[in-house]
Amino acid sequence: MKNIILIAAPAAGKGTLSEMLVEKYNYAHISTGDLLRSASHEETELGVKISNMLKNGELVTDEIVFELLEKRLGENDIKNGYILDGFPRTLGQAKKYDEIIEKLNLDLGIVVVLNTEYETLKKRIVGRVLCKNCGAVYNTLTGVNTPKVSNICDKCGGELYKRSDDNEESFKNRYETYLEKTKPLIDYYEKKGSLFYINGENKEQMLKEIEVLLHD
Ligand code: AMP
Repeated sequence: MKNIILIAAPAAGKGTLSEMLVEKYNYAHISTGDLLRSASHEETELGVKISNMLKNGELVTDEIVFELLEKRLGENDIKNGYILDGFPRTLGQAKKYDEIIEKLNLDLGIVVVLNTEYETLKKRIVGRVLCKNCGAVYNTLTGVNTPKVSNICDKCGGELYKRSDDNEESFKNRYETYLEKTKPLIDYYEKKGSLFYINGENKEQMLKEIEVLLHD
């Protein structure tokens, strides 16, 4: 399958789209946010450093991101095609990524921008809660996936919690960072002829639109 780079604002639907593609086409899903969150739990100096950057909604330094990413791209499950979710975030990362794929003999594939409204994004982030036990995701503001009993997981009865960066202040910060640093990527990939847009408001529509690109 074609490799996919997903470009989108926080909570624009990257996670949902990736899940559907993993299930249907067996893609490897590489989220740099997940790689960083997992590294931030390690009780090392590096773990604490990453944890602080994540809490403030800042971008983590390229050196750390590339170390984790290169290690991940060396694993076997990416051979069938992989989705990059949350990377590259800046033009600098995009250029460095071109060098890495050349070195590792990987294809760029397609770059897909998810278009989702600002108000939809804010509600998805500020209302998002997760289960401490099984990781299921709910929302208390959008009307989609509302937990039946407040603070309790419908699936396993576990307690629900908010990610520390899912507050309005951090959302604004992350959105502004997205606009400022990520938009130049769009021009970069457009010039290469690898850029495509799909609508991120609706789950089924999103899958249909990306499938057209994959089978093209
Ligand atoms: P995400 O799960 O993609 O929303 O990412 C959560 C946080 O991880 C971001 O707010 C950044 O602090 C950090 N992060 C994720 N991907 C990158 C990246 N490619 N470069 C720098 N920081 C990143």
